[in-house]
Amino acid sequence: MRRRIGRAAALALSAGLVWSFAGAGQEDWTGLFDGGGTTVDIDALLASAEGSAPEIGAIKGLTDRYWVTVAAQSSRERTKIAEAGMSIDGVEAGQVSGTADSEILAKLKEAGFRVVSAVRLSKFGPDDFPPADGVYHNYGEVQSALQGAQGAASEYASLFSMGKSGEGRDLTGIRFHRGGGEAKPGVLFMGSHHAREHLSTEVPLRLAQWLAENKDRPEVKRLLETRDIYIVPLINPDGSEYDIASGKYRWHRKNMRRNHDGSIGVDLNRNYAWGWGGRGASGNPGSDTYYGPSAFSEPESQAVRDFVEGHSNITVMLSYHTFSELVLYPWGGSDEPISDGRALAAFKVMAEKTAGMTGYRPMQSSELYVATGDTCDWAWGAKGIFCFTFELTPRSNWDGGFYPGAGAVETTVAKNIDPALYLIDLADDPYRAADGKVAAAPKPKGENPS
Ligand SMILES: [Zn+2]
Repeated sequence: MRRRIGRAAALALSAGLVWSFAGAGQEDWTGLFDGGGTTVDIDALLASAEGSAPEIGAIKGLTDRYWVTVAAQSSRERTKIAEAGMSIDGVEAGQVSGTADSEILAKLKEAGFRVVSAVRLSKFGPDDFPPADGVYHNYGEVQSALQGAQGAASEYASLFSMGKSGEGRDLTGIRFHRGGGEAKPGVLFMGSHHAREHLSTEVPLRLAQWLAENKDRPEVKRLLETRDIYIVPLINPDGSEYDIASGKYRWHRKNMRRNHDGSIGVDLNRNYAWGWGGRGASGNPGSDTYYGPSAFSEPESQAVRDFVEGHSNITVMLSYHTFSELVLYPWGGSDEPISDGRALAAFKVMAEKTAGMTGYRPMQSSELYVATGDTCDWAWGAKGIFCFTFELTPRSNWDGGFYPGAGAVETTVAKNIDPALYLIDLADDPYRAADGKVAAAPKPKGENPS
């Protein structure tokens, strides 16, 4: 017998739950599942996993993967859940949600966690990119859209490739700047480290289009004339293409590396060389948060590293993800705040300002849960770059999760333009975010012949 854990039940469970972040350091969450009786019987669930062929090769399909909600009261518990190998994609009062397979579910049970719901991914309806979500850009469409933006602002814009993905796709970017060299303060925007987070491709892509279309507006022109803006909308093109290739979303998060055990993919946002392999990431290749065989083992994360190291004028970075509506800043891999007090003050102001513009919630990344090896810990820790992770719309899986539909694109893009302009402006001296001093003359950290 198939045990039914339907979407309706899960919806009912999550209804009425509200965020209750009450400020930095506060760990208590209110209004939780203390009623009991909602715990999923993992054994029954797993027993019901009727054999179904994986979709291709050894890739786990949707039949033995689940959208899981687990009760968790603190950052420490959320970190332990991440370490068991579950991806944490949503955090609500007293619980976290994300994807896991049966092996990880069993681990969570063994560790004493209460699994509130687990919905087989195959239960979620088919949502095609085309036609229902046709406004989203696949890899090929990203290339043409970037070419279009470049053509519309050719006095500023040029295209570049940050490198190649594992399957040989270009990590194409667009650069807006005036004049040669890299003497101007640089900003790097990136999207879709995670394959299924398609909205995080749209936001930087459409930022590029917006800059091109609005290049003659005085406030935009000033930034284009005085900054060096790099936008790479799709860091994980292989995974993104795989996610949509069947016409039905596969909930794929990682890249497409073939792991030694036959599983697929490394979590690119756990593969950076800062705290790599530590808390909140998984050494299990089958996990959605697998950190890879070594730091920077992946061509995509290597490309980001090499690009950043080759462009030392970059002072600000923004990595877009979905979802949960958050603005996150380092550290993610440590509960401690960053040690440079002046920088911390600037990070906080920048996070609060951009959160104010978007309606998202600002916080140190590890307040959510500790996760090592992410982009921004490396960018700040190794390079001193003011790096933010935006978790875009929606707020929860039940508002659309990774697949919020065509209707989410315009509104999400619209509210993310001002934060981008604000960060571009601050690239000359991010520290001034906190001390309010007047913009100084651009002071690049260094120059690199390109
Ligand atoms: Zn992500």
